[in-house]
Amino acid sequence: MLVTLKEILSKAEEGNYAVGAFNSPTLESARAAVEAAEELQVPIILSHAEVHFEITPLEIMGPILVELAKNASVPVAVHLDHGSDLENVKRAIDIGFSSVMIDASHMSYEDNVKTVAEVVAYAQKRQVSVEAELGMITSSGIGGEETPGGEHHMDGDAADFYTDPEVAKDFVERTEIDALAASFGTVHGIYLKEPNLDFARLKSIYENIQKPVVMHGGSGLSEEEYVTAINSGVRKINYYSYSAKAGAEAVKEYIDSHPNHFYHDFAVVAKEAIKRDVKRAMEIFSYKHKAVR
Ligand SMILES: [Zn+2]
Repeated sequence: MLVTLKEILSKAEEGNYAVGAFNSPTLESARAAVEAAEELQVPIILSHAEVHFEITPLEIMGPILVELAKNASVPVAVHLDHGSDLENVKRAIDIGFSSVMIDASHMSYEDNVKTVAEVVAYAQKRQVSVEAELGMITSSGIGGEETPGGEHHMDGDAADFYTDPEVAKDFVERTEIDALAASFGTVHGIYLKEPNLDFARLKSIYENIQKPVVMHGGSGLSEEEYVTAINSGVRKINYYSYSAKAGAEAVKEYIDSHPNHFYHDFAVVAKEAIKRDVKRAMEIFSYKHKAVR
């Protein structure tokens, strides 16, 4: 069933777990996430990132995601990832998205507040949830470049972009967002070096804002890192690069081991590999794996 981000995250807040948000630029990635969630009976967020509109346009992928969500046996929020302006937010809401992210993190602080507040005013009237970003989540440069502010690679000091917990409090109060994308050491794309997450910062952001924190660049971390992040206030984990890589590796293996190739077989092989990968992530995020141990 289609639900809002606010609703899905408030339940996660009560249960102290996180909900995975899976970018779905193709039918295979979307179906993999929904099937895995239904088998585990956990809620999920299906996202379409603005930078992926060139893979599948919003007007084509959006209605598919909304339809998949409506027909799912678990709660599903349909979310715009890293929206750059009110125009794209409006397009997503018109299609039926229940949640949007406005990323104005590359702007000055006051402009970020103003842009986000405008989006919240528009979305709230339509019962749509809003996520915004403060500080900047950088990119490794391999996969996952999804921010409207351009690419911010790790060659500089990523800590310069970390979210300030005091400013976060002011930001959330003034914008009335439902969830905050915070920068505390995760990186978009494939990790080129071991991530070093600032959990103390995350915890104080969460205590200051009293709202769900969103982890971007959330694939490729250890189980322990996920659990610590969840216990420190992370309620939404954006998970994409590593599942997309798993799909590609499975296709390559299939090509290497089969003499004849038909494109539809690649789609099936990729979907199954993505499903295995996201299912493992969902088990960790929802703590379901603890019960079977
Ligand atoms: Zn992101």
